Parts: sequence; structure tokens; C-alpha cells
Amino acid sequence: MSVLLLSHHACLAHDPGEGHPECPDRLRAVLRALEAEEFAGLIRDDAPRATQEQLLRVHPQNYIEAILGIRPAPGDRVALDGDTIMSHGSAEAALRAAGAAVVGVDAVCRGEVQRAFCATRPPGHHAEPGRPMGFCLFANAAIAARHAQAAHGVRRVAVVDFDVHHGNGTQACFEADADVFYASSHQFPCYPGTGAAHETGVGNILNVPLPPGADGAAFRTAWRDHLLPALDRFAPGLLVISAGFDAHARDPLAQLRVREADFAWLTTELCRVAERHCGGKVVSLLEGGYDLEALASSTAAHVRALMRA
Ligand SMILES: [Zn+2]
Repeated sequence: MSVLLLSHHACLAHDPGEGHPECPDRLRAVLRALEAEEFAGLIRDDAPRATQEQLLRVHPQNYIEAILGIRPAPGDRVALDGDTIMSHGSAEAALRAAGAAVVGVDAVCRGEVQRAFCATRPPGHHAEPGRPMGFCLFANAAIAARHAQAAHGVRRVAVVDFDVHHGNGTQACFEADADVFYASSHQFPCYPGTGAAHETGVGNILNVPLPPGADGAAFRTAWRDHLLPALDRFAPGLLVISAGFDAHARDPLAQLRVREADFAWLTTELCRVAERHCGGKVVSLLEGGYDLEALASSTAAHVRALMRA
């Protein structure tokens, strides 16, 4: 399968500060892993900036202006909340992360490639339309889904999220919109506190909470028995993946015990869903993952599966 890898060096310049888990070294570790010989077949490109029009499909104008207006001097930082911190390069990084999601959709929907993977940061799935949260500034997965609808006429988009944290932001974007399906497995209870099974939107949200300590077998069962069948019933015209790797057993921010082989298995299953309903169109976006070694090997397993499935 032809797979497009999108990134940008500006995503390394978003620096929430010493000791912050969402650090530039995360992206360095991912990009280093994807330099291995087995990934020579990836098509590589720089992410453009998202445009105002693309951001406005999800975020109100005053929110966009507020985020882009925060440009601390080099070395300074502005804390938007206890976790979400902007440095000099953060606004530019956020524009590139959202822009990668958009051009990944363009490339896949035009048939230029079968799949796209966006190795970018800051992540996006906690950002609500009008509120930054949980290391996230713009809701990249939601921006991708809206772009597919507005620019490519894709009516039904599924956003699937296997980050260990619930994507409250993505859910908030779509909870009243039956044309977008949001499917998530996540540790519960855990940050951000949302994602209970009874949160079902207009029948378009499926949350499968997993207890702390749940292992790869429990993770696979959740997807095999609940999330994948629901995705098949929804029959998406495009699959957007919020690919966080912090459900890994080594991750310091949560207590699930998922492994590389489980991420690879799920990736392959998601590609099969896409093959059944939309010609295999998958756009995957990096979300969390805070153990650098586990993040690198898990992302490699994910991208390997995107290339093979
Ligand atoms: Zn996470």
C-alpha cells in the first residue's frame, strides 16, 4: 500500500518546557524509528499550515485568533491550563499539525495514496471547539473529518481513537452529528474523566471504557466485539484514526498493558473495515504516547501495518 508520511520541523519547536511529557523528543523518536530501511517506501512530505477556512469548520474565529495570538518570546511560556502550555513555536506547530491532517485527507481522497500518517504535535483529541485542553490546541482529527466532508463530498466519516485517554474534544465536536461516528477505547477512570459507556451522542458515539490494568487481550476484545462491528454498521466513507500509543504497558501516564502487536493487530483490522466500505481510505494522526521507546516501536508497528494491510 502507498502510505504518505506527513510531518514538519516546526512541530519540534513546540516546547511546553522541561519535564513536560508532551516533549519534542517524542516526535524525534517517532521520526527516527520511521527512518529504518523497512520504511524507505513511505512517501514523505512537509505539512502545510492549515488555513483559517479549514480551522473554522471546527473552531470559532475568536478561539483561532486567541490561540494564534499567543506567541511568547523565545524561552518564555504561557500556560493555558495546568497541562496545556504554549511556547514561541507552539502556534506554528499547531497550524502544521492541523494542516497535515488536512493534506492527508486530500491525498487519500484524491486517490494519490491509500493511507496517510501524520507524525505531528501538538496532539488534538482533547481540544474542544472553544477550549484548549490536555496538551491539545486544535482538534486535528475533527478538522480532518470536516475537511473530507466539505472539500471531498465524503458524507459519513468515522473517527476512531485508541489513545489511552478519552478524546473528549473530538466527541464534543460531533456529539450532535449523526454523519460522524466516534469510536473510542480508553482507560476509565482516567483523565479527562469523560468517555463513559452511556455517552452515546445521537447514537453516533461509542465509548468502551477499560479498567486500569486491562491488557492487550481485553483491548482486542473491546474492538473485536464492540467497536469494529459498530464501525462496519456505520459504513464510513473515510476512516480517521486518532493514534495514541499511551495504552502501552510502559507508558507513564496510564495503566493499560497494551503492546506493539496489539496496536498492529488493531491497525490491520481498521484497514480491513476501510477496505470493506471506502476503498481502504485511512488517515492516521499521532496523538499521545509518553514512553519514548514504546512510542517509537508502537508507531513503527502501526505504520508497518498501514503499509501491509
Ligand atoms: Zn493520551
